[in-house]
Amino acid sequence: MQNVTIIGSGCAGLTAAIYAARANLKPLVLEGHEPGGQLSLTTHVENFPGFPDGILGPELIENMHKQAQKFGAEFKAGTVTEVDLTQRPFKIKVGKDLYETQALIVAAGASARLLGLKGERELIGHGVSTCATCDGYFFRGKPIAVVGGGDSAMEEANFLSRYASKVYLIHRREEFRASKIMIDRVKANQKVELVVPYVVEEILAPEGLVTGVRLHNTKTNAKRELALDGVFVAIGHDPNTTVFRGKLEMDENGYLISRHGSLTSIPGVFIAGDVQDHRYRQAVTAAGSGCMAAIDAEKFLEAHKH
Ligand code: NAP
Repeated sequence: MQNVTIIGSGCAGLTAAIYAARANLKPLVLEGHEPGGQLSLTTHVENFPGFPDGILGPELIENMHKQAQKFGAEFKAGTVTEVDLTQRPFKIKVGKDLYETQALIVAAGASARLLGLKGERELIGHGVSTCATCDGYFFRGKPIAVVGGGDSAMEEANFLSRYASKVYLIHRREEFRASKIMIDRVKANQKVELVVPYVVEEILAPEGLVTGVRLHNTKTNAKRELALDGVFVAIGHDPNTTVFRGKLEMDENGYLISRHGSLTSIPGVFIAGDVQDHRYRQAVTAAGSGCMAAIDAEKFLEAHKH
């Protein structure tokens, strides 16, 4: 029987683990399908307070992991497949393993979206990627494309230009959603060519390896083909909330809805991080909400001592 189980090991989950561990609750962290969360897939983090020279995302995550472990948090690999929140102790299944817990913190994060094109998913690892940090190195000296118009797309385009011979930034509108500073950096980058307003109609991979994309101009309907070796999809994220459908309140996009900070409609279940935040989505806000969830869980357990 666990006091507190934390689903997710990103910034929110790890911060919750640090706080819960320091409260002597010996939290169990279920790491999920992307251990370390989105920070572990990024490069330089320049806006996390306390690091004037920036820090690498994976390093920041590793530090948080060590910090939680140091105070007694326990980690288990695996993705949650089923939850029963109808009564306490809550039951959580990770494949064949069953965990029972008095309090639960859901910090399951969000995952990268795909374009929904035929063969796209199968081509991941064969030219299609959702993680520039993980895969950029494979495209040294090769032309590639980044799809999207938000901060992620800008960040990936800039990062990938270190490796690639050329980066096409494909976006469906002429205006970008990204912040001005990020757009300006991309525009100043000689290796990046903006390809707007275009959508990717097909990823060309005649022999199972990406060789190009066929594009469609959303204004003129013109078609265009680009020869390239890699397509980085950077069009946002979806919350990892499938197992909570019908069990926890969520909005139309699947983001969990919090009440008064980290609380949910079920006493003893708390939420933190990107799983409940589509507005701020920052490492520091995720960390802050993880802290809130742990404090709320601690107070809940204190009040429900037998
Ligand atoms: P986002 O802001 O939601 O942007 C997604 C982009 O993908 C939009 O430009 C959208 O186009 C496009 N898109 C969505 N679905 C598409 C589809 N099916 N086909 C083609 N294009 C599609 O997501 P994000 O860039 O991942 O950023 C998420 C949050 O993280 C933001 O708050 C962002 O500021 C933050 N972030 C910050 C940094 C940083 O500061 N260093 C870095 C990365 C992310 P439309 O614009 O036409 O809708």
